[in-house]
Amino acid sequence: MDFDLTPEQEQVRKLAHDFCDAEVAPGARELDRTEAFPEELLPKLFEVGFLGAPVPEEYGGMGLDYLSYGLIVEELGRTDASIRSLVSVNTGLVCTILLTWGTEEQKRAWLPRLTAEGLGAFGLTEPDHGSDPAGMQTSARRDGGDWLLNGSKMWITNGSRGLLTVVFAQTEPGSGARGITAFLVPQDAPGYEGRAIHGKLGLRAGDTAAVTLTDVRVPDSARVGEVGQGMKVALNALDSGRFSLAAGATGISQACLDAAVRYAGEREQFGKPIAAHQLVQELVSDIYLDLQASRALYWKVAARHQRGERHTIESSVAKTFCSEAAVRNADRAVQVHGGYGYSDEYPVGRYLRDARVTTLYEGTSQIQRLILGRHLTGISAF
Ligand SMILES: Cc1cc2nc3c(=O)[nH]c(=O)nc-3n(C[C@H](O)[C@H](O)[C@H](O)COP(=O)(O)OP(=O)(O)OC[C@H]3O[C@@H](n4cnc5c(N)ncnc54)[C@H](O)[C@@H]3O)c2cc1C
Repeated sequence: MDFDLTPEQEQVRKLAHDFCDAEVAPGARELDRTEAFPEELLPKLFEVGFLGAPVPEEYGGMGLDYLSYGLIVEELGRTDASIRSLVSVNTGLVCTILLTWGTEEQKRAWLPRLTAEGLGAFGLTEPDHGSDPAGMQTSARRDGGDWLLNGSKMWITNGSRGLLTVVFAQTEPGSGARGITAFLVPQDAPGYEGRAIHGKLGLRAGDTAAVTLTDVRVPDSARVGEVGQGMKVALNALDSGRFSLAAGATGISQACLDAAVRYAGEREQFGKPIAAHQLVQELVSDIYLDLQASRALYWKVAARHQRGERHTIESSVAKTFCSEAAVRNADRAVQVHGGYGYSDEYPVGRYLRDARVTTLYEGTSQIQRLILGRHLTGISAF
């Protein structure tokens, strides 16, 4: 594995770094304070191509390699994790599903729109089924040549302000995971209602929605993958989503390091910068250690993906480590800032609140350990 970036990858990283500093960072605090959707920023993200970074050019994307996509996501995570999250779901989950499982017609109908016009959402979780999606209640039943979808989805990123939701529904009641099928549901379809959830701890600028489906009618051509293959579609997409999440969490760790080093050099106590106190250096160094390990782990996933190798376990390792490292690092960065870290005069409190969800979604840290435990022992504990 090569740890040197190619000149093209360096260029992408610089483009993303500069764009994020100029366009994303300045509005992050206000969006967080007001829980406002990034109306003005979104068109700029489409224009610069970040919503379709790894999507082939023939479908409207930038056609970048996977590591380049990760570098963009890391920069977004460094500056505003809410924005990173909406990009990850659109690109890492929804575009991946279309590219991997979609028919040529589905790709041509949706990918150029998801890379230039509006966001895609991933509708797996339900109010009563989060870690255990195989038990989902949302149903899809045949009605002539169509399907009728009914049920509720919970915590759906981009679920009320997007164009399209990939809805996972039970098509063979009583069959558990083997009876789930995936459907492409336009968010303006009659019977689709997405309601924004407010009062979140973090990701406050992101659209997170409770979705209700009431007799939503879609043609069979909206089915993505075979009947009963939906769980495979979801899990395969999560291999990619967890990579994206790991890259974004690494961005939060980088932001924590930048903020902690800056503040430690400026703030004086006992007649010298706090950076001159050994225990503050320990906090800063620990952030750096976790950051370096995080980056190496998500780069490893990118390398395997680029070679066309499966990376379920590597994605799970990277997701678990990078998310937990981001939480540790944000906590350390708050500590370095003392009382000032406890107000939003400084961004470190937002980093902690935004990092916190990364150990919860796309499979909690506990579920990741069950995946790894099954891999290591050959015994499934869930
Ligand atoms: C901001 C945000 C955005 C989200 N975006 C999306 C999205 O776009 N699409 C989507 O489909 N979902 C999304 N989610 C949902 C997220 O994936 C779920 O919240 C997550 O999978 C956990 O499910 P749950 O909340 O129902 O918790 P539960 O499954 O009820 O888990 C509660 C606790 O029990 C533990 N637990 C559960 N089962 C076991 C077990 N077998 N062994 C040990 N511990 C266990 C969990 O680890 C957790 O600590 C989002 C969530 C949030 C908060």
